Amino acid sequence: MSGEPQIHPGDTDEFAWHSTENWLPSVVDVAIIGGGIIGCSTAYFLARSGVSVAVFEKGRIGGEQSGRNWGWVRQQCRSPVELPLMMQSLRLWKELPAQLGEDLGFRQGGTLYLAENETELAGLAEWLAVAREHGLDTAIIAGRELKAAFAAGDRWTGALYTASDGRAEPSRATRAIARGAKAAGAFIASRTAVRGIESADGRVAGVVTEHGRVAARAVVCAAGAWTRLFCGSLGIRVPQLPVLNSVARTAPAPELLVGQAWSPAIAIRRRADGGYTVAHGHTSIHSIVPASFREGLKYLPAFRSSRESTRIGTRGRIRIVLDRDGQGRDSRTDTRTLREPRGIGNTTETPVVVKVRPASPSRPF
Ligand SMILES: Cc1cc2nc3c(=O)[nH]c(=O)nc-3n(C[C@H](O)[C@H](O)[C@H](O)COP(=O)(O)OP(=O)(O)OC[C@H]3O[C@@H](n4cnc5c(N)ncnc54)[C@H](O)[C@@H]3O)c2cc1C
Repeated sequence: MSGEPQIHPGDTDEFAWHSTENWLPSVVDVAIIGGGIIGCSTAYFLARSGVSVAVFEKGRIGGEQSGRNWGWVRQQCRSPVELPLMMQSLRLWKELPAQLGEDLGFRQGGTLYLAENETELAGLAEWLAVAREHGLDTAIIAGRELKAAFAAGDRWTGALYTASDGRAEPSRATRAIARGAKAAGAFIASRTAVRGIESADGRVAGVVTEHGRVAARAVVCAAGAWTRLFCGSLGIRVPQLPVLNSVARTAPAPELLVGQAWSPAIAIRRRADGGYTVAHGHTSIHSIVPASFREGLKYLPAFRSSRESTRIGTRGRIRIVLDRDGQGRDSRTDTRTLREPRGIGNTTETPVVVKVRPASPSRPF
């Protein structure tokens, strides 16, 4: 498959820790666990402001969700509490390519939320009040204007559109930020798992990595999906449950849209290489694990609000599909496409269908 390069285990790892080349620092102000976008950005901004900082990544920099996501820098439809942060984030994304001297694939091509009928469109339009309050360029578009933004047939009645929304290339961004952090003085080591945190006099004193101990005045845990397990080993409870989303990517293809579009039926974005990343609009799978019982109650409100899009199953025996029409199939997607391959979530056994009332669509990314 051609297209934007993904991290491959065989690729040279520019951040790899080698016993002969990059000795661990004995002491830093801040030790960061995890080299995803959170860990690397934290290191970048700390290093630029003169703080000594080290990032320890157990695998590859940007090798987990930060290197595989949709890359949407989206303001549209954020909660009013979150929106000011997203607007500030967008400002930072605009500055980053020049600061880092690298192309992160950042473009402002806009976000479209598509509606198939007037009722859906009216639901989307409710967010316009939030947009107005924050001075955003969000608008409802239809007809020729919509066709210009997304040349994909006549299926859509209209869309909520924020032209200033951006996207970056996940495969490039985290590593470019890590390089920027390194250039600003940060120590970055991949293939260096943190096993634990040391404390002294009731305060954090450092981290214990697989290659040795590093003293630190503060520790940032940016371990992504591993945070609950890591913090749990220290007696700190962090409620967190995983869901699995699958996407497909195409080779470069003619331009249908510059930015990104979402509807309950489809999520699509154009990558910098001209190919598309495409998925079902909202299908998440949560495989039941022991933590589901410990933490599940906290997630019930979120589950209820997105129950038409969340599937729950055990790893192998039973599968529960919560779908849009309660008939065992998504109203727009054949159930066969909803079956995940063995080893990822569930088997191909006959699904147990739970009838649910349709709820308003949850919007991801
Ligand atoms: C399918 C999908 C689509 C998404 N789309 C978007 C989007 O469009 N826009 C958006 O803003 N967000 C999106 N997100 C969310 C976004 O990807 C995440 O919020 C973000 O990547 C989290 O970054 P992170 O650094 O916290 O975690 P991660 O990228 O998971 O990084 C954590 C790192 O910590 C390392 N680690 C864990 N434990 C240890 C340890 N003990 N020692 C050393 N290292 C350790 C891991 O190896 C990992 O590399 C999407 C997520 C997914 C899954």
